[in-house]
Amino acid sequence: MNNPEVIIVGAGVAGLAAAAALREGGRSCVVLEASQRAGGRARTVLVGADAFDLGATWLHDADRNKLADLALAAGDTLIDADATRTRITLIDGQPGTVEDEYAYNRAAQRFDTTCHARAGLDPDISLSDALADLRDDPWMATIETWEAAQIAAADPRRLSVRDWAANDLQGRNLWAEGGIGALVERRLAPLAGEIVFGAKVTRIAWGGPGVTVETSQGVVRAESCIVTVSAGVLAAGGITFDPPLPETHRGAIDALPMGLLTKIALHIPDGDRLGLAPGTSIRRRLSRPLEPVLSLHAWPHGARHIAGFVGGPAAWDLARGGEGATKAFALQQLGQALGVAAVAKVGEITVSSWGTDPLHRGAYTYALAGHAGARAVLGTPLAGGRLAFAGEAVCTDGLAGTVGGAFLSGERAAGMVR
Ligand SMILES: Cc1cc2nc3c(=O)[nH]c(=O)nc-3n(C[C@H](O)[C@H](O)[C@H](O)COP(=O)(O)OP(=O)(O)OC[C@H]3O[C@@H](n4cnc5c(N)ncnc54)[C@H](O)[C@@H]3O)c2cc1C
Repeated sequence: MNNPEVIIVGAGVAGLAAAAALREGGRSCVVLEASQRAGGRARTVLVGADAFDLGATWLHDADRNKLADLALAAGDTLIDADATRTRITLIDGQPGTVEDEYAYNRAAQRFDTTCHARAGLDPDISLSDALADLRDDPWMATIETWEAAQIAAADPRRLSVRDWAANDLQGRNLWAEGGIGALVERRLAPLAGEIVFGAKVTRIAWGGPGVTVETSQGVVRAESCIVTVSAGVLAAGGITFDPPLPETHRGAIDALPMGLLTKIALHIPDGDRLGLAPGTSIRRRLSRPLEPVLSLHAWPHGARHIAGFVGGPAAWDLARGGEGATKAFALQQLGQALGVAAVAKVGEITVSSWGTDPLHRGAYTYALAGHAGARAVLGTPLAGGRLAFAGEAVCTDGLAGTVGGAFLSGERAAGMVR
């Protein structure tokens, strides 16, 4: 490996975007990636003949999502996921009425207004505590679980209401034909220049005039380094920093735990649509917050599978139980929603494993109550720009936890390293 000006650790969206920006600015860099592929938490696999994203699924807030810009500029097809979606809410096993949907929407508006208003007040409290006055609403357990556990992948009893409000996603949600992971590999990775795969970084010495980075494939030196591994990898001590990171940055890492969202594809090989139109989303009214639930998305964009999502504490419990426990849960939830005949149709079951993967250790971060400023702290470069962090965890543009946010944070870090 030649010694470049900048070393980038991790070939996820943040690392690739940082490399592309550096190269566009005429600087040399190398990306060191522990695994054998680019994309990180954006990863597409095949389920039968159809693309299935194990990680990032939608390009949120599409009008300010640079990955969407890149895809459109290259002529790729992006589909408006909201326009192709219909919703069914099951109440005691039966589809809710139009009045039930109105009631849900009214409750969701009260939830939004309450949480955004509370986010502007001191002190910063948890999302659960912010909902104290809404507990009599029969929909609140469902909405809290949907917003905090399924979307933010977080535990609402720990999630900062200010961090939730700052990253409450707006705008259009687009789906990339062929999957987001494939899009990243096809359009972003080629802009990043040299990527060394299988190079696991173990130690970064940043006290010197430059940086020395030790990897499983040898030592690389450079003027500066951008670290894009997940906050979960940092918290687990997967990389030794010499000198150790200052208290500010260590505190910020501790305040940004990894949430977990597990995705499950239930393949129906005979193509039976089970009476559901493509794009049908099925959720269930819950009787208590954080009741384990699998939300279902049938035949996304015509595929022959039902995608299931389970997030927050329930996802961590299942991950601890192993893949078998997650598959059993998925079939039980499918049966509860669509009946035993649907379960009998299921062939291969594909389960994501972000929680147990040592290169990620979760899906994406949330800030703990009282620590909404942690993302900005972790994103503050050290030693005059010799060491900087990027990735979804440090995004302060309202897109934390997303590929769009990872992209922006990578570009920002590229502009700040020496
Ligand atoms: C199930 C799930 C669903 C999601 N849904 C969406 C969605 O719909 N829309 C959306 O926008 N976002 C979604 N996200 C979030 C999105 O995928 C992430 O925010 C984004 O991909 C993070 O990119 P990153 O570059 O910050 O980190 P990563 O993708 O984690 O990149 C870090 C890279 O560092 C590598 N690495 C780790 N340790 C080392 C080491 N020691 N040495 C070298 N390399 C190392 C890793 O292998 C990885 O490639 C989802 C994520 C998950 C898991």
